[in-house]
Amino acid sequence: MANIQTTAGASSSSIQTLERIGAHSHIRGLGLDEHLQPLSGPAQGLIGQKSARRAAGLVVEMVKSARIAGRAILMAGPPSSGKTAIGMAMSQSLGPDVPFVMLSSSEVFSLEMSKTEALTQAFRKAIGVRIKEEAEVLEGEVVEIIVDRSLTGATKTGKLTLKTTDMETIYDLGSKMIDTLSKEKITAGDVVSIDKSSGRISKIGRSYTRARDYDAGGPDTKFVACPEGELQHRRTVTHTVTLHEIDVINSRTQGFLALFAGDTGEIKPELRAQIDGKVEEWKEEGKATVVPGVLFIDEVHMLDVECFSFLNRALEGEMAPLVVMASNRGLARIRGTRFRSPHGIPIDLLDRALIVATTKYAEEEIGAILQLRAQEEDVELSAEALSVLTRIGAETSLRYAINLITTSGLACRRRKGQKVEVPDVRRVYGLFLDEKRSVEYLTAHAKEFMADEDFNPDVAPD
Ligand code: ATP
Repeated sequence: MANIQTTAGASSSSIQTLERIGAHSHIRGLGLDEHLQPLSGPAQGLIGQKSARRAAGLVVEMVKSARIAGRAILMAGPPSSGKTAIGMAMSQSLGPDVPFVMLSSSEVFSLEMSKTEALTQAFRKAIGVRIKEEAEVLEGEVVEIIVDRSLTGATKTGKLTLKTTDMETIYDLGSKMIDTLSKEKITAGDVVSIDKSSGRISKIGRSYTRARDYDAGGPDTKFVACPEGELQHRRTVTHTVTLHEIDVINSRTQGFLALFAGDTGEIKPELRAQIDGKVEEWKEEGKATVVPGVLFIDEVHMLDVECFSFLNRALEGEMAPLVVMASNRGLARIRGTRFRSPHGIPIDLLDRALIVATTKYAEEEIGAILQLRAQEEDVELSAEALSVLTRIGAETSLRYAINLITTSGLACRRRKGQKVEVPDVRRVYGLFLDEKRSVEYLTAHAKEFMADEDFNPDVAPD
């Protein structure tokens, strides 16, 4: 494989499972200040769970500065205590070109591929490769002018949007810009605009606020002035793809269309080894950098002992992402064995992990989360209805109470009401059982159900 392809029109940094009903669509970030302290009240859609958010913020910072890779974090806490919500918030805080992959443990068990292949793909989806490429200058692109005065040690930077692809004109504009930059009080990092006809250059902002907009819009072109003032034209396009995308694009049996279908099948280990070798070469030549992202494994106790041993080994890999696992189990059986372990995770993997605990919510926090969800779902709740839902949430589960928002909203609409009132909540509470009432019903009617007589959850084979 002489030429490894890295683009196929699919430059997404991560492929995530789409949820039809966004259970976490109200979450926009971790809601922390610049010192990584949780902001009070609802912040970026998150309420409470301050210590876990602080820990998650620290992890995000470490991932961003590429100081953490091949490590495992375990988010441990009771059901609906926000483990997944915090995972989603981490993904939003990471920025667009750091891959974040969310995997539910049950997705690993499929007939189409082995468990280890499914996990390998998830790992490689969570590893980004930022590739730099030389390319043609296009009209309308944002270019960067760097005046490198290496003799005096001063560097000045400006940006302009190309109105032409004619290189003579571009060089001319660049030279004028360099002249102006040296005369005017434009300092390094300023963003400037340039008027093509008059050559006038005006400052439009600082690069850290405006340049980001430009960067988001397209690739960079750099004009570097030599100390003598002569312009050299250099253009670098960076794009980030994941190792998995590179695997699929180069897989002879799959081809890049498989990326869109999501049906990538198994990929040969030899191909992966070749791609790893090539990426290593690119790194050494300065053409690429590896961006270890985050693999979030929800309900990790559903994995079996083979998967756990795979994780232990894969975390040793040089390019391994950060693995964040979530579990709501206490002492539980490790699937595939007869042994029990905290969270159903083997002790050796647990020993590697930094454990972040999430705790049960206080009643007022439940109320605040329900209020947020109601806003998100466009359901107006009366104060009394919110208070009843809050009590239901505290006595049953937060998730059950959240589910009642949508259904009571529908009940309210059926009676052509504007605001959900207590009778709407009461109605849907009667229609849909929570877990506790469901167990009571099951116990009372056990004889009417089909039962697996031999079932014993403690020793049941997988
Ligand atoms: P499980 O162990 O059952 O998988 P979990 O701990 O992952 O549960 P989530 O799915 O994150 O719980 O939370 C349940 C619901 O409550 C989700 O809709 C989530 O967005 C919301 N939620 C949980 N915690 C918070 C919070 N602190 N702020 C805002 N919303 C929250």
